[in-house]
Amino acid sequence: MTADLKQTPKNKLKRLPERGSYDREKAYAILDEGLICHAGFAMGEDIFVIPMAYARMGDVLVMHGSVASRLAKTLSTGINMSVCVTHLDGLVLARSQFESSMNYRSVVAFGNAVAIIDEDEKNQALKALTEHLVPGRWSDSRQPNRKELGATTVLTMPLQEASIKVRTGPPKDLEKDMDFPSWAGVVPLKVVTGTPIPDPTQDSSVTPPEYVTNYQRPTR
Ligand SMILES: Cc1cc2nc3c(=O)[nH]c(=O)nc-3n(C[C@H](O)[C@H](O)[C@H](O)COP(=O)(O)OP(=O)(O)OC[C@H]3O[C@@H](n4cnc5c(N)ncnc54)[C@H](O)[C@@H]3O)c2cc1C
Repeated sequence: MTADLKQTPKNKLKRLPERGSYDREKAYAILDEGLICHAGFAMGEDIFVIPMAYARMGDVLVMHGSVASRLAKTLSTGINMSVCVTHLDGLVLARSQFESSMNYRSVVAFGNAVAIIDEDEKNQALKALTEHLVPGRWSDSRQPNRKELGATTVLTMPLQEASIKVRTGPPKDLEKDMDFPSWAGVVPLKVVTGTPIPDPTQDSSVTPPEYVTNYQRPTR
């Protein structure tokens, strides 16, 4: 079992700390279920928050982008960045609007990205990214050639300074509102897979693999 995530003044939970945790395994479960993160960083006076794909590889997050993109160029300099991943599990309808809320699981991590230079390591990280998004896809698709690897920046960000916040369960109305005559409860929300749509240019004899027809999140 790896050690808990580091608590610092930056990630110390102040509002509703009872919903928070620094448990590494719980943070990893949230990260492993997600598909996209929002990466935040500053450039001069401006703050950017950009959506991107990610994967967890051991104790690091892996992200990638075109070598030509501002995102990859900026983050690979190792500047401070933060990454947020959120799952929205339900809308919590309390009798009062003030106590209405959301059920969620989220991770906020702070760190500095490092660009992977070694080709084999780059391939391993891209494999982790592919397998995180679509388990089974890496070995069933053409893998990147040298030119494509050269055109791709692959970044890792160590998972050291991070926190979790989770809300579950029914609404928590005030005692004086319990008789208010409106429906109270939770509207659950989840990611649902649609029917796979084949590329119209594809030969119709190609059948979709099981990892496509049975695709679901979470994967475990
Ligand atoms: C679900 C999802 C997953 C993605 N995964 C990746 C990934 O893994 N790797 C990757 O490199 N990129 C990914 N992208 C695209 C990414 O969000 C950026 O558009 C891209 O990386 C270029 O960033 P940039 O800062 O270099 O772009 P620039 O073109 O330099 O950005 C200039 C400005 O364009 C606007 N802008 C840029 N991106 C977006 C956006 N997505 N939505 C709205 N406005 C935008 C912002 O105002 C930004 O400041 C993903 C996007 C989405 C929505």
